[in-house]
Amino acid sequence: MIPIPSHAQTALTVLEQNGYDAYLVGGCVRDSLLGDTPSDYDITTNATPQQVLAAFLAYHTVETGLQHGTVTVVIDSVPVEVTTFRIDGDYHDNRRPDCVTFTGNLRDDLARRDFTVNAMAYRPSTGLVDCFGGQQDLRARLIRCVGVPDIRFGEDALRILRALRFASVLGFTIEPETAKSIHKNKTLLTHIAAERIQAEFFKLLCGINPAPLLDEYRDVLAVFLPEITAMFGFAQHTKYHDSDVWHHSLRALASIEAHSLPLRLAAFLHDIGKPACFTMDEGGVGHFYGHAKQSVELARNLLNRLKCDNATKHAVLTLIEYHDAELASTKKSVKRWLGRLGPELFFDLLRLQAADSMAHAAPYVAPRLHALGQIRTLAQEVLDEGACFSLRDLAVNGRDMITLGLEGRQIGAALDYLLTLVIDGAAENEKTVLLHAARGWIEETNTSNT
Ligand code: ATP
Ligand code: MG
Repeated sequence: MIPIPSHAQTALTVLEQNGYDAYLVGGCVRDSLLGDTPSDYDITTNATPQQVLAAFLAYHTVETGLQHGTVTVVIDSVPVEVTTFRIDGDYHDNRRPDCVTFTGNLRDDLARRDFTVNAMAYRPSTGLVDCFGGQQDLRARLIRCVGVPDIRFGEDALRILRALRFASVLGFTIEPETAKSIHKNKTLLTHIAAERIQAEFFKLLCGINPAPLLDEYRDVLAVFLPEITAMFGFAQHTKYHDSDVWHHSLRALASIEAHSLPLRLAAFLHDIGKPACFTMDEGGVGHFYGHAKQSVELARNLLNRLKCDNATKHAVLTLIEYHDAELASTKKSVKRWLGRLGPELFFDLLRLQAADSMAHAAPYVAPRLHALGQIRTLAQEVLDEGACFSLRDLAVNGRDMITLGLEGRQIGAALDYLLTLVIDGAAENEKTVLLHAARGWIEETNTSNT
């Protein structure tokens, strides 16, 4: 028995009352059998899209992809995708079928699906339909292609990355034949649009334990992230490190919790600029001067190419830029950083620095983690005290500066000056005090300008 929420049950019932066959299918069946709560419920039916639209006349429907047979029905404000049983036509471009044909046969519809664990259907009246050994693979925690892997990856190369994504998110391994075919067919990924690669790759990065998978399939990643190859096996020649740049990055990634995309990306890419910045001194010690900046540039390029959204990109690049910054354990310094990055990004930076530290040679880990812990405590204190650390918290604002006769850039400069006074403890965050200080600053600037 699979638990079914009422909106999905309603969708099944409406189709059955209209005389059609209807089943839950794909991810929701897989996740339910695993005991997880599915993110959404997809339905497959022998009704044609026009018949589906007619059956759900009383509901809001969206013609999501009529030619592919998909109608979205909104029930109790929840969207449910209803797709007609279909067979995919021939594939000529390694990414989509030339045409799709509707079929009355559920088995045909399941056969076109990517992996056995995604190719099961269920309806309460007749139970589970599992034609390709999906249950067995779920129990063995295996990702296995439905059918012959080389053919399936040749049809749609995105499946290569989907296999890695499901393995990462579910914590499964990839069955040997499927794995072999992934390595063999990896270059077909060049036919896939960046947006689709991004969606799967970002989910893969946010999985349970992606590091071993990224390592085993690094040749596959390098097809769409050629920049990472410079990290493979790149020895660091310093006592602070006991792994090459690639394995160091994966170790850092491994200690970032799942579901934090910007942090996972930042950990993965924080040292990508190291190989290009490497120098060795006379003592045979390696240095990577300027690598944070170089990593930012490479990461920016890479994220742009993947069509990453701006908010994620900004967070990732900021974290990479400061991953090596020396943070002091003083309230003054902590307030400056809080002001510069904002609390959320600053706490993320502390987590990234901790993850980075944990991937260093053993003797250097504990002292650094200790210092970072102190900084985090200080930052929490600053927030709990409601202390002033940004222009927003300042007891005066731009209008006050205009009243004092300032204009244009002077306004920002004066406010920055006042914020520094407050953070440094040289002035109370109090309006009359700050107005007084501002007048002094204006006088001084005027004198120095004459
Ligand atoms: P999620 O929890 O991420 O939504 P999901 O299994 O529902 O997982 P979707 O990408 O939403 O994944 O796809 C829904 C279903 O459609 C899959 O379970 C699979 O049966 C089928 N499917 C999706 N993409 C492909 C593809 N490229 N090739 C073959 N079948 C696919
Ligand atoms: Mg889904």
